[in-house]
Amino acid sequence: MRNARLLLPVLVLAASLAAAQASVDVAPLTAVTAANLFDGRQVTHDRAILIRGNKIVAVTGLDNPDAKNAPTRIAFGPDVMVMPGMIESHTHIFLQGEDPAEGGYDGNILFGGISFRAARATMALRRALDQGFTTIRDVETEGAGYGDVGLKRAVEKGYIPGPRIFASTRAISTTGGYPLEGYAPEIQPDLPKGAQIIDGPIEARKAAREQLDNGADWIKVYMTHRSWLDRNGNLFSQPTLTLDEIKAIVDEAHAWGKKVACHAYNGVGLQRALDGGCDSIEHGLELTDANIAQMVRQKTWYCATLSVYYGGWAAENTPQGQRDRKRAALHGPSFQKALKAGVKIVFGTDVGGFPWSEPIAQEFPRMIEFGMSPADALVSATSLPAEMLGMDGLIGVVAPGAYADVIAVGGDPTRDVKVLGDVRFVLKDGKVWRSEKAAAK
Ligand SMILES: [Zn+2]
Repeated sequence: MRNARLLLPVLVLAASLAAAQASVDVAPLTAVTAANLFDGRQVTHDRAILIRGNKIVAVTGLDNPDAKNAPTRIAFGPDVMVMPGMIESHTHIFLQGEDPAEGGYDGNILFGGISFRAARATMALRRALDQGFTTIRDVETEGAGYGDVGLKRAVEKGYIPGPRIFASTRAISTTGGYPLEGYAPEIQPDLPKGAQIIDGPIEARKAAREQLDNGADWIKVYMTHRSWLDRNGNLFSQPTLTLDEIKAIVDEAHAWGKKVACHAYNGVGLQRALDGGCDSIEHGLELTDANIAQMVRQKTWYCATLSVYYGGWAAENTPQGQRDRKRAALHGPSFQKALKAGVKIVFGTDVGGFPWSEPIAQEFPRMIEFGMSPADALVSATSLPAEMLGMDGLIGVVAPGAYADVIAVGGDPTRDVKVLGDVRFVLKDGKVWRSEKAAAK
């Protein structure tokens, strides 16, 4: 009698599991046919992508019977390139630019309020998806705590539209290493910070543990903070974490099977990031030949975020304006040298640091300007960052077994990357999010 009570729920569970399995197997087939297909690595022609549920089950010729008879067929002609949903490796959904009218950076934390910020972050996710970015690595919430983990869950459960999110939660820096700052010393210790502040390797490890415990997919660390020009006109960046501190974080993150992204401009802080075993260098404005050789040796990823440093400069005759110009003057050549040396470069923009209303794809022409081929720029936003995220074969490719994240852009991005700003169709997880000029049959 006691066991019979248990038996019924078990049977019901078994039956519902079987039904769930069957529904995946019999999910109706969708065929996306493409005159031109960039599959994440190369361009092919006249292909049919067969999709069941949220997965790609086959990529075949157009004469395949399944492709011809699929109940849903979405056809793209020769004026369009079909390709994997793109990956943005450096976003901040909880930032909305640093508009002085809204209090600049500090306004986000002082005036926003968490629900207001979450509402705007929700719209940022939608903006990313609209522009064909079906995956983002969001590299910290800027004082919005674990908000990225909550929004990620909301996307996964289907409550809100958005890309796949790799969340970094709060980020880590040191005392004197992150805003809010510049207030009276008497009140400074009590002000909220845009990152979790640690001092010493024990606090560093504890912060990493807390963030991982609360859902961080990545750990983000600020290895440099303020920057200025020294008396000889060289860019100087204030280092933050010591080698012991960054090593404790990397050790902890790696033990959890996670990776560490390091904001680092140049100098001592950048060197500590590399010596400490950071997995990706963010920005990397001034990479020396030795830095680059170490990145190649350690297989460190490089997310340069070029375009954000090429606009919005302060007035030329001010220290800030001269610093801004120097940063840009160093950044392009660093990118060029890293590219030549074979550093693994992933596409990322720092969007959120500039308004989400600006096009994310503006970064592509900058990468071309500094020597990257259009084909490599495409790879840097598809199959390559998928490797960085531990998702190779699952995202960033159009291939059997991958998630059905497929987009179409107007034109041929292997000739002109500007067409990546002309996204006409977005399918994420097997569901059409956006469709223009797609001939649905
Ligand atoms: Zn950033």
